Amino acid sequence: MTKPRVLSQMERAFLRQAVENGEHYTSMATSLGVCVDTLKRILQREGLAEFEGAKYAVSMTRSNKKNVWVRPCMKCKDDRPRPKWQYFCDKCRSTLDDDDTEYRLWD
Ligand SMILES: [Zn+2]
Repeated sequence: MTKPRVLSQMERAFLRQAVENGEHYTSMATSLGVCVDTLKRILQREGLAEFEGAKYAVSMTRSNKKNVWVRPCMKCKDDRPRPKWQYFCDKCRSTLDDDDTEYRLWD
């Protein structure tokens, strides 16, 4: 594991702006010279964005609302709306181990 990257004031301001502008995470990551996964951890840590999924601490907030689908849960076929790319409903997810990342696709 690498050490958490410490953001400078400028980088933090840049990220806040980029998030507000709805920039792609890939371009933000490129700007900071980190991989997208690291960027997401940084955003999560800095409270600039929230991501669903155990890896990033679960939260279903406004940022996810516009991105939902009704694909049936791969386990129990529950088809209530949930964040896009989430293949299992919350109930089933809580029974899954942390290593379910293969089912989670980022853009
Ligand atoms: Zn389910």
